[in-house]
Amino acid sequence: MSFKDLQLNKPILRAVAEAGYDNPTLVQEKTIPFVLNKKDVIVSAQTGTGKTAAFALPILQLLFDNQDAPKKGKKIKALIISPTRELAVQIEENFKTYSTYTNLRTSVIYGGTSIEPQKDILKKGIDILIATPGRLLDLHKQDFVNLDYVETLVLDEADLMLDMGFIDDVKKIERLCTKEKQVLLFSATIPYKVEQLANTILTNPERIEV
Ligand code: AMP
Repeated sequence: MSFKDLQLNKPILRAVAEAGYDNPTLVQEKTIPFVLNKKDVIVSAQTGTGKTAAFALPILQLLFDNQDAPKKGKKIKALIISPTRELAVQIEENFKTYSTYTNLRTSVIYGGTSIEPQKDILKKGIDILIATPGRLLDLHKQDFVNLDYVETLVLDEADLMLDMGFIDDVKKIERLCTKEKQVLLFSATIPYKVEQLANTILTNPERIEV
């Protein structure tokens, strides 16, 4: 299977080709069609399998197709929650690479560093936000983050997120987004507590294992 077979647009195909990717990985092949169909998914995949592109590429595709939707410019339409700053930064780098030929804007916010520059970035307006849970809630409380327009919510490394004690934050964030959103949950392993979280926040999810 090729990336073209996955029905991705030219600007995305071009960026993927320039990144040196010849063909989709297994997790990408299995996940991308469901995301494009706006299904919820629960994916068990380890780091290194290409799981970031498995959600980033179809999210970019959906936003790219919907760019002219009225009143939605510069609102956060995709929100990716990551347990650590390092992972959040990596995800942002991936989105930036894949969105080179679109005018979609991506940014990242995380704790343990000055909050002021992050406020400035949020004020300018972005389409895709990658965030660690605590800093996101902090900036939301201070009114710098509007989650009313989030169409896709991604929980990356959900098992690690729960191990790090972010369960309540994650649930709170989910409730701050609209009900109709699509939810994508990625986890290396699916222990009982991840299953329980999935049961509360996903709707008829497609299960994907690689
Ligand atoms: P991840 O599992 O998302 O951390 O990705 C692991 C690595 O694989 C990253 O360095 C990606 O840039 C790379 N990668 C992702 N998808 C592909 C692909 N289809 N072909 C080649 N490399 C890829």
